[in-house]
Amino acid sequence: MSITENITRLKASLPAGVTLVAVSKFHPAEALQEAYDAGQRVFGESRAQELTAKQKVLPSDIEWHFIGPLQSNKVKDIAPFIHTIHSIDSLKLLQEVNKQAAKHGRIVRVLLEIHVAQEEAKHGFSPDECRELLHSLSPEALPNLRICGLMGMATNTDNTSQIQDEFHKIHKLFTELKSSVFKGDEYFCELSMGMSHDYPIAIREGSTMIRIGTSIFGEREY
Ligand SMILES: *Cc1c(COP(=O)(O)O)cnc(C)c1O
Repeated sequence: MSITENITRLKASLPAGVTLVAVSKFHPAEALQEAYDAGQRVFGESRAQELTAKQKVLPSDIEWHFIGPLQSNKVKDIAPFIHTIHSIDSLKLLQEVNKQAAKHGRIVRVLLEIHVAQEEAKHGFSPDECRELLHSLSPEALPNLRICGLMGMATNTDNTSQIQDEFHKIHKLFTELKSSVFKGDEYFCELSMGMSHDYPIAIREGSTMIRIGTSIFGEREY
């Protein structure tokens, strides 16, 4: 199936209120352009250098999302245009995004990455670390960013009940924060969960943003 067919089919299958982030890492600009021509406007990338190179050559109304591990020293490269950063995993990174966004007079949307998977290699805050961070932040401290929700990845496994469990944990934390730290904050509304192999489970567990690469663009070559 073509990229266009994949996008059309995926979009038609999504419930209202779920945003499709087309994860285009390792695919050439031509592939993104085909997705764009099929109506896709939200793209996710996981490396700053690759992202800035693509941003330069692709249409300016694309909404760029950063989804991979982000080093503080790369924030300045994406700060002029990035729409949402899904993968915030430290206070230091939050502060750097705020600082660089301020330089451009922008407000950048961020999601806090929550670690619930079994793999050690995955990034993010534990639920407790996330609570601590948020309770220690004063609301005025970071005026150039907007904390819009949480992001998380489930363990890479065929065990669907484990995946469901892990997504459920993230959703539970989201609900808790929404009714405490973020009470009355209309911006705290996104739950970024689900990739090609597990997005239907993520949607059942309340995801509002799915990050799909392989099911749109095919296998990546590393
Ligand atoms: C690569 C990647 C995806 C997309 O994965 P697919 O299995 O290709 O859909 C989603 N989220 C993150 C954080 C990624 O790095």
